[in-house]
Amino acid sequence: MNKRGIIIAIDGHSSTGKSTFAREIALQYNLTYIDTGALYRGITLIALENNINSPGSHVEKLKLTEILSKTNFRFLSSGRDKAKELYANEKNIEKEIRSIRIANRVSIYAALPYIRDYVDSLLKEWGKKGGVVMDGRDIGTVVFPDADIKIFMTASAEIRAHRRYRQMQQNGEHPDYRTILNNVKERDFLDETRETAPLKKARDAILLDNSNMTQEDQMRWIEQIINERWN
Ligand code: C5P
Repeated sequence: MNKRGIIIAIDGHSSTGKSTFAREIALQYNLTYIDTGALYRGITLIALENNINSPGSHVEKLKLTEILSKTNFRFLSSGRDKAKELYANEKNIEKEIRSIRIANRVSIYAALPYIRDYVDSLLKEWGKKGGVVMDGRDIGTVVFPDADIKIFMTASAEIRAHRRYRQMQQNGEHPDYRTILNNVKERDFLDETRETAPLKKARDAILLDNSNMTQEDQMRWIEQIINERWN
């Protein structure tokens, strides 16, 4: 396996720490990290800003398609550190896309085939040369079914809600645990039951249940897999 052209696909439930894990892997192996959920969040934000609340209706679909055709999504390094943040045209939207308002709506937008097609074509373009780690819901099943390494991450809904709760507290927010738990369960349900590209483990994906694992445990786990496959 050529390290330069490698594609690592990390799918799984929300709030399993996929992006932290993917980012760490990218840093360690000099790969590009692509947060595909951020794109769905960015589209949701832009739709809401344009009062598109029923994106499945014919009229709003046309309107949103038109808006997206004029939107240039890019991940750029922010001044603060090396982490890449999402920009829509010239605007940094990273903070807004992480709000509970977007989290509550994103799965509705992400279920629509025309929105998935739009994101898929961006991802295929960005990943075509390889050297990437992508995290999402359908990377190993739909976007890059031939990815070199596929991982499916999960953890119990309660543990995931606690993690998100702590993260929001650290960001100075005052979250309600029950609301977060409901959001986690609701998103699992919507992601797993939608018709287009539902969240599911690819047959050849390796399961990683990190309910009782630290980040160090996870890095040791992936190092072993990468070493086995690269040698
Ligand atoms: O990963 P994150 O929680 O930021 O993703 C936000 C939402 O975007 C998910 O709940 C899911 O509905 C959607 N998503 C998706 N396919 C992806 C990535 C994210 O449907 N590849």
